Amino acid sequence: MAKVLILGGGFGGVVAAERLAEQLGDTHQITLVSRSRQFTFYPALVRLAFGTAEPADVSFDLRRTLQNLRVNFIEAEVAHIDPFERSISIAHGQVEGKLPYDYLVFALGRRLATERILGFYEHAHHLLNVDKAISFRKAINNLHEGRAVFGQCFGARLPVPVYESAFALARRLKEKGDRERVKITVVSPTTLDLELGDVTAAAAIKKSLDAHQIEFRPNLRIESLTHHAAMTESGETINFNLLMLVPPFRGSSAASYLGITDEEGYIRVDSSMRVTGHERIYAVGDCTNFDGPKMGHVAVRQAKVAAANLAAEIEGRTPLSRYQHETRFVISEIGSDSLYVHKDSSTEPAIVRHGRFWGWGKQAHEKYWEVMHS
Ligand SMILES: Cc1cc2nc3c(=O)[nH]c(=O)nc-3n(C[C@H](O)[C@H](O)[C@H](O)COP(=O)(O)OP(=O)(O)OC[C@H]3O[C@@H](n4cnc5c(N)ncnc54)[C@H](O)[C@@H]3O)c2cc1C
Repeated sequence: MAKVLILGGGFGGVVAAERLAEQLGDTHQITLVSRSRQFTFYPALVRLAFGTAEPADVSFDLRRTLQNLRVNFIEAEVAHIDPFERSISIAHGQVEGKLPYDYLVFALGRRLATERILGFYEHAHHLLNVDKAISFRKAINNLHEGRAVFGQCFGARLPVPVYESAFALARRLKEKGDRERVKITVVSPTTLDLELGDVTAAAAIKKSLDAHQIEFRPNLRIESLTHHAAMTESGETINFNLLMLVPPFRGSSAASYLGITDEEGYIRVDSSMRVTGHERIYAVGDCTNFDGPKMGHVAVRQAKVAAANLAAEIEGRTPLSRYQHETRFVISEIGSDSLYVHKDSSTEPAIVRHGRFWGWGKQAHEKYWEVMHS
């Protein structure tokens, strides 16, 4: 009997657990460790902030889902991994100490490096957990005039909620008759092409921003914040009444000091999703070192590849599944002009589609995920 440990209860960890349970049956022991028993459907947090979803719509009880799959769940903090001893150290949870494994799937996501932006914790809103989305909702409801600023810090890898929030606010203010009183600005630490990884996608979003009178300011790297102002690396001060900022991302600290990460802390993997240079360890999702935005659909596809290869390895078959990187996303909240972008790993421009359907499709996918996994 093999002991398989999955670290992380997000998109990557949950899909890896489901696939492994399906493929390995009862013969082997599968355990998932995560710091919270709640699964959060992050793409719905923009809707939570704008009041079109409630907390119960965006999360579910992971323990129950995993129990149904006969996967053990341990609620705890993963502190350290020892690939030589094949064990992990866990703390602050229902169990503390060391857990041995035969095979490991690392799916702990990214770390928010808020310490890199002075004043971030006190003065910025963000959308990276349910509580923060709710406190952003209160601030949105209190905004009737002035300037709203949305953006990513240098090193953040999450453009979708930035643009969705800017469009959602423009629509909300228009409905309330306050649009003329609020200036909306999106700031980018680079350019739109670099943020989205594609010129065609960038042009489509710029056109929508212009159509909704949303100002776009490229190449502004925010370094510090005060109550109503953001200071950039180039010395510019941007005043705001409301700020939503995605902080810099880094790899998970549980993977540090193992010699398996790049300079930003993301884990190096090969196309079979195996950690480079280490046997029996796979990594999937935001924690891995792929270019472009960090996306849930990437985590899901990588988890399927890792699970297929890990099951093959355990059963003595040749692991044949391979991951090919691509990016797909929908920017909804633009109404009839919602955008779908698909960019594969070739040099071909991205496929971009417009229409209300894409926004509906995104919500339908959210519902499908909830029904299938909760
Ligand atoms: C507001 C928002 C909107 C988004 N919109 C989209 C979208 O439209 N489309 C899209 O494809 N993607 C979107 N994303 C990105 C997507 O949510 C992420 O790419 C995805 O969640 C990554 O999955 P993951 O499993 O790698 O990591 P995560 O989902 O971050 O899961 C990591 C898990 O590990 C746990 N964990 C972390 N560290 C530890 C530790 N030390 N010990 C124990 N547990 C730990 C966490 O609690 C979490 O359960 C959005 C994200 C946000 C925040």
